[in-house]
Amino acid sequence: MLMSALAWPAQAMANISIDSVRVWPSPDKTRVVFDMSAAPDFTYFTLYQEKPYRLVIDFKNTNRKASLTNLGEESLLVHKIRTSTPKDAGSTRLVIELAEKSDAKVFALPANDTYGNRLVVDLPGKSVKRSGPAKSVAELKERKVTIAIDAGHGGDDPGSVGPSGNYEKHIVLKVARALAEQINKDPAMQAYLVRTGDYYVDHGIRTQKARDAKADLFLSIHADAFTSPQPNGASVWVLSKRRANNELGRWLEAKERHSELLGGAAEIVQTNDTDGYLTQTLFDMQMDNSMASGYSAAEAILNELGTITKLHKHKPQAASFAVLTSPNVPSVLIETGFISNPAEERNLMSNQHQQKLARSIYQGVRNYFMRNPIDGTVFARPQPTRHVVKSGESLSVLAQRYNTSVRAIQRHNNMSGSVLHIGQVLEIPST
Ligand SMILES: [Zn+2]
Repeated sequence: MLMSALAWPAQAMANISIDSVRVWPSPDKTRVVFDMSAAPDFTYFTLYQEKPYRLVIDFKNTNRKASLTNLGEESLLVHKIRTSTPKDAGSTRLVIELAEKSDAKVFALPANDTYGNRLVVDLPGKSVKRSGPAKSVAELKERKVTIAIDAGHGGDDPGSVGPSGNYEKHIVLKVARALAEQINKDPAMQAYLVRTGDYYVDHGIRTQKARDAKADLFLSIHADAFTSPQPNGASVWVLSKRRANNELGRWLEAKERHSELLGGAAEIVQTNDTDGYLTQTLFDMQMDNSMASGYSAAEAILNELGTITKLHKHKPQAASFAVLTSPNVPSVLIETGFISNPAEERNLMSNQHQQKLARSIYQGVRNYFMRNPIDGTVFARPQPTRHVVKSGESLSVLAQRYNTSVRAIQRHNNMSGSVLHIGQVLEIPST
């Protein structure tokens, strides 16, 4: 009784509580999120003179309900989070022990649709085993086409949530991985996954990573949601310098922008400019070319998606998504379906459907590069000449005419003998 009597004044003074703590390691940083019952009142300082390196946060007028056990296990950077003696009876002091010094950013985020008040600690530094950008292909005579695949959202940003409680961030990561597998099986292409696990990547960093990987195409994978359960089907989006011109487009734009804020991203897209936010002329000129390419790629992907799923829109849609604003890299955003539609949510959760989505997106991408080959890649290789055999022609006659050898024609067409039939179609190899 004495203990509780003594404890009483402290608890009465603490009006705010720390309800849970979440740790999100990613290749470049670890994010620690404290879920608060109200806006946090905090100060912090670092102890970097000696090991263990520590970031100390004082939460004024706050008690702790959250458990601190096993936090930071997944992060190479955060060793543990523990309590320490508070400055006064009503406050809580938490210590984040770090493997190395990190230039921490500590900031509060207000409540939104998904989360309540939060205190966010961003700790730059290697936090998971790094998966580097695409391998250098300089030594190869013909380089591979690199496709950057961006699984939307992640970490503390779940994206849209389906009626059965499934998160967009999980579904799109699975589709992204399946797509990367398809692409890497193709000797002419290689995939670069922008996000490889369950963590958030700022939008500016996503496109920067794609540029660093020398990507030829940037694909951002998402699943849609709407306020009513009816809408369904896939859609493909490309960047526009104008705002979206239909209701759903505007809503989607707002949603993806919202999720960017939700992740605590530093960059905020300007919305007060009616003609879009891309005001620099040079930037615009760079954009025009990649936007046109993006549109062609989007059309090719839509054609293939249309063979395996219902389409919400049969033409590429244009909107000013922040994630698509990468100059020089054609960029496409794919909404794989509506997670807000109960039947489609089930579909999106099935491995079989995820594989189908991946295969059709891959096929669309391949078709696009076949029609728009990039110099120095396999796609730009001269296509073999087709020859229809006419009366009186022999292999040696054809070899002479096309400046090649009988062996080469035989090998290219899987022929064992040398008998030709009138009307037979032969491929004449180019070298
Ligand atoms: Zn999304």
